Amino acid sequence: MLTKIIKYFKDSELKHSLAFALLVFALCGSAAVWKLTSEAAPVARTKEVPLLEIVHRHSDPFQQFPEAFPLQVAVFWTSPGPDPENPLPLVHSLKEMGIPFFITRDLSEALRHRLVILYPSVDSRTFTQPQADQLATFVRRGGFIFAQNVFWGGLQNLFGFRSFAPSRNRHRLVFSGTKDPVTKYLNRPEERETQLGSERFPEIIWSNGYVPAPGAEVLAHFDDGSAALLTNSVGEGKVYLLGLSLLDVVLRNQNNHDYEAQRHYVNAFEPGADVWLLVLRAWYEAYGKDWVRLATIPGGQRSALLLSHDVDWENSFAPGLDFARIEKANQASSTFFIQTKYVDDANSKAFFFAPNVELLRQLKAGGSTVGSHSIIHSRGFNKFELGSGHETYSSYQPRGLGFDTASGATVFGEVRVSKELLDGGIPGQDTTFFRAGHLRVPVSLPEALERSGYQFDSSFTADDVLSNFPFAIPRGFGFEEDSEIYEFPVTIEDEESPGFAKRVPQALGVILANAENGAVSVILIHSNESILKAAAEQELLRQLPPDIVKTDMLTFAKFWRARDRLQWSLTETSVPTEVVLQVKSAESVAGLTFEFQRPLATVTGGAIMSPDKRHLVLPEVAPGYSVSIHINYLR
Ligand SMILES: [Zn+2]
Repeated sequence: MLTKIIKYFKDSELKHSLAFALLVFALCGSAAVWKLTSEAAPVARTKEVPLLEIVHRHSDPFQQFPEAFPLQVAVFWTSPGPDPENPLPLVHSLKEMGIPFFITRDLSEALRHRLVILYPSVDSRTFTQPQADQLATFVRRGGFIFAQNVFWGGLQNLFGFRSFAPSRNRHRLVFSGTKDPVTKYLNRPEERETQLGSERFPEIIWSNGYVPAPGAEVLAHFDDGSAALLTNSVGEGKVYLLGLSLLDVVLRNQNNHDYEAQRHYVNAFEPGADVWLLVLRAWYEAYGKDWVRLATIPGGQRSALLLSHDVDWENSFAPGLDFARIEKANQASSTFFIQTKYVDDANSKAFFFAPNVELLRQLKAGGSTVGSHSIIHSRGFNKFELGSGHETYSSYQPRGLGFDTASGATVFGEVRVSKELLDGGIPGQDTTFFRAGHLRVPVSLPEALERSGYQFDSSFTADDVLSNFPFAIPRGFGFEEDSEIYEFPVTIEDEESPGFAKRVPQALGVILANAENGAVSVILIHSNESILKAAAEQELLRQLPPDIVKTDMLTFAKFWRARDRLQWSLTETSVPTEVVLQVKSAESVAGLTFEFQRPLATVTGGAIMSPDKRHLVLPEVAPGYSVSIHINYLR
């Protein structure tokens, strides 16, 4: 026994305490032994997490997004040269909206399609005069162009502007009260006026304020009165010109490099990035001929409420079962993000031990899903070093030291070791969802998540990233290429005063605003108590309209990932009213829904037509298989 105690002290590098311990042992006998062994951390079950390499899947956007069918929007990439602005912001926008597209450098190929986007800008070197004439002829004969930042005088007449002025100090944008179809989805005040950056920054993103030519119509203007979005009808066709870049008003918000453009941090409706996705969607639906769109929500539903709980306190485990019970009774389920705290530190005692882990097994067995909420839940997580990637449970000993400081902690350690513990502790668990403590996000998070085998993250608020649609996180939160991780930002949380139980009507209002756009809402309720909060959640679930899916985050995230990676095409047949929808998914996915401009008469292949005859819900698609649905339109 004594040998064992000596060894314990050596291992703990507390040899200086040995004399004292021996004295205690002599005085108290076996009681001292019990005390010492109970303070040694119990060994938890773990499962090895392989360290993955980063795979760069797509370097060539032309190969990734090839021309395949006439309905596709043609994206003419205007600047693939040195220091290019790559199409990633536009790719995010079109994919999130389910608009089919391809990317090309061949203008004639682009102009064979009815809808063309010029991206990212047009200057005097982009087109030759004969190409400019080609563009003008295309529009006159019934073509439609959406362009941003056109600077070239040779296209002034086509795009309807007299001049433009670049600036970095326009902070607001207001959609005018016109009836133009591209503003169809912008019906709320938060959509009719957006903020481009905080007034605290005198210089923010670049914008180009246009002076319209006679005949052109201004659809949105900046705070200095210049035109931000204008449209010009030419012959049978029409052009739209935006004085901003989607890089700045979509991707910059999503990767949180905006100039604090959000008007709220959480619990409010903030569609600042979404409005541009909705403008593109409305443009496609207004001018696409017999358009078809991949809907954002499964099963022909209107929206989804994604439920989640954070378990980040020793007494937050048991109430989790109460939430799960209420959710089940309301045909819902949720994802529990678990802090796997196995060390004592300045912030709290360790609590990822046997009784709590058993509760997690019960939650999982009852149909809830489980994600990681880090280990020490540090407020300083955003400042942690990436780490080596070789952190494991046996070697990783992080300690919170105070409010936002820690020792021995790394980003890899927090994401990888928490996965080791959850995967080892819960039968059948493969942790792929992460949420950072205090929603503090380090720049290396996407890399650590990707390399540790995660697929999904929920560490931002929707208001902060101005986005209510899920999106792929670019590597390093940059602008170049997407990581393998998808973000599902938090819309509603429970802690802001006066507390979630008193904010149910407000939460419902935000959920309904998102539902109008086909966007989703993510709700985070800490499971630290289940009396007030679970009753409030139940009230919210009961008041939710039936066409809003209520589901756990992981189930929806898997759907979204498969949807985002779906390959699909729509081809005409020799019969004028018949088309063939071909769908191929790399992963199993159920409930894929397509929206049609033309009402449907009959469909094959086990697909289900909605009562409005304009939505088609596909049967479950098996991984790697191609599904063909023959569709007959109503005459
Ligand atoms: Zn937390």
